[in-house]
Amino acid sequence: MRVTVIGTGYVGTVTGACLAFLGHKVTCVDTDLSKIEKLRLGETPIYEPGLEKLIALAHENGGIDFQTDLAEPVRESDVIFIAVGTPPLPSGESNLSYLEAAARGIGAAMDGKRFRVVVNKSTVPIGSGNLVETLVREGLVEAQPELAETVRFGVASNPEFLREGSAIHDSLYPDRIVLGAEDARTMSVMSALYQPLVDQKFLDPSFAPRPVDMRPVAVVTTTITSAEMIKYSANAFLAMKIGFANEISNICERVGGEVTEVMTGIGLDNRIGIGFLNAGLGWGGSCFGKDISSLLHTAGEYGYQARLLEASLAVNRLQRQIVIQKLQEKLYILKGRTIALLGLAFKPNTDDLRDAPSLQIAEKLIQMGARVRAYDPIAMDACRAQNPSLRICYCNDALSAAEHADALVLVTEWPEFANLNLEDLASRMNRAVLIDGRNLYHPEKARQAGFEYSGIGRASRTPLVRSATPGTEPS
Ligand code: NAD
Repeated sequence: MRVTVIGTGYVGTVTGACLAFLGHKVTCVDTDLSKIEKLRLGETPIYEPGLEKLIALAHENGGIDFQTDLAEPVRESDVIFIAVGTPPLPSGESNLSYLEAAARGIGAAMDGKRFRVVVNKSTVPIGSGNLVETLVREGLVEAQPELAETVRFGVASNPEFLREGSAIHDSLYPDRIVLGAEDARTMSVMSALYQPLVDQKFLDPSFAPRPVDMRPVAVVTTTITSAEMIKYSANAFLAMKIGFANEISNICERVGGEVTEVMTGIGLDNRIGIGFLNAGLGWGGSCFGKDISSLLHTAGEYGYQARLLEASLAVNRLQRQIVIQKLQEKLYILKGRTIALLGLAFKPNTDDLRDAPSLQIAEKLIQMGARVRAYDPIAMDACRAQNPSLRICYCNDALSAAEHADALVLVTEWPEFANLNLEDLASRMNRAVLIDGRNLYHPEKARQAGFEYSGIGRASRTPLVRSATPGTEPS
């Protein structure tokens, strides 16, 4: 099929590359010329492992090209994906201005020569399928009123579930594909588009091998409203799982429990599942906060107060402050202290800093008079460029970040941090305090390396069974 993908961010670039890899002919469009110029050179505007290689394969398979103007690609396409950003407004609503511009632009470019499907890939508030249909039609009527009766198109919702950092794997081997449409023709175009992915008969790339237990992909076909609800509900549920682990970790700290053991103990129950139960400094990223706020806002428009969602946001807000409390417990005074942060990206294997806990922690520390040093394997350039007024001293590696620091905070669990030489790290510090914000290290090993260790929800162990010899128990 001929496909246009509008928006070459984390979702659009990966979607376009995957569809071209599967044999479709794809044009990716973005208004940002610098991104398009990079992509034309075979580079990617974002850090995503394997993406450059997938784009190279996409050129060999279906073919992929990159443009700034959507008119011609839209005219040539059977399927047009909208994958633009839908960032939050201060009210919690989604900013739909990018979506609106894209939808109107699609309408203005259409002709009556073929049936086209316009697909919402962006995460959009409930009812956006309707909105997109209206905007496409308005764009069409404004630009080419004479074609208003002859142009035929359908609208579909196809929410995206990829995770930054493993986006290629997630897109080639998804748990499910969700297709929302209101008419059979649109649904059959979408089913045909995804058939190669469903069948899983393509030759898997060496850098993203097919899981051994991979089966044909489940397709969930629904109405547009249900598809839109699926995306929001999935993110709300995942955020709630992490929030739950965090809440339990705070109780564990008080009663002397170890949250990693507790989560293993509950996660092995099939009804619960082990994923997304890691306690830590709270979730971040461009999706969870924005999507929960948007769902809350929609619920509010219908007169419903979604208390569980509100609590999920509140628990996460509190969790981010825990680092500061832990540092105060260990160091008392933060003014004039040097705090080293390991990791800035909101999670490992990405350069994405949107709503990253690191930024809030750094801001708070600086505001409290501390000096902040930081190292991140990938996200430092982005952090510097996006936060020019944040007075962070960026370091070349973890060891130099730790140099003369009064405390080290592990913020993002990049794999390379798991292999650091803890003795070396501790020996360079002014005071070897380690706040392990992701429970990456073994507490005893960290202590043996010389650290005063504090994880999340990991009470240091005091034996419950005291001496059995009568008369020797402590009073
Ligand atoms: P992004 O900000 O990385 O990319 C959006 C791109 O759209 C930008 O390059 C921007 O220049 C471009 N754009 C904006 N208006 C345009 C227009 N009118 N025409 C052409 N291009 C335009 O965003 P993202 O992270 O890729 O997210 C896109 C959508 O997918 C959002 O709704 C998001 O919630 C959703 N989503 C994101 C993820 C994720 O992990 N990032 C996962 C699932 C769903």
